[in-house]
Amino acid sequence: MRINSFSDVSLRLLTVLSSVPEHELPTTRELAEAVGTPYNHVSKAVLKLRQMGLVEAIRGRSGGVRISADGKKATVGRVLRVLDSHSDVAECQTDMGACPLIHECGLRGALNHAREAFYASLDNVTIYSLARKTADGPVPVTLSTVRPS
Ligand code: SF4
Repeated sequence: MRINSFSDVSLRLLTVLSSVPEHELPTTRELAEAVGTPYNHVSKAVLKLRQMGLVEAIRGRSGGVRISADGKKATVGRVLRVLDSHSDVAECQTDMGACPLIHECGLRGALNHAREAFYASLDNVTIYSLARKTADGPVPVTLSTVRPS
């Protein structure tokens, strides 16, 4: 099962923000660097995560982004259900248009059922708990605290 790139970036952002010490507020630009993704994509993902109540934006000169109390409880399954489940698992398109089996196909439903099982298996996995392991693991997340004046 493959998740879409928007979900992937959003999960990476939440993981990074879960690893950052409470007093640090990375900017969107710093986050873009930390997750290795263009600023525009990260900016859209941060906006969506704010709308979901999972991150907060603190304004001002020393402002930035931080994970919210709700974000600390968010599970991978919950995030994927919102950000990843808008399309069918199979595209059901051929070079000549819609798949000719589309009206009697039982496979689509089975695949969508399998996707739900995939999400359900991640319903007890909080992103925050994953990030805490990552911070101590072989790929620690570090963010620059130096800001342009
Ligand atoms: S067989 Fe079913 S799942 Fe596969 S492309 Fe056709 S309609 Fe979609």
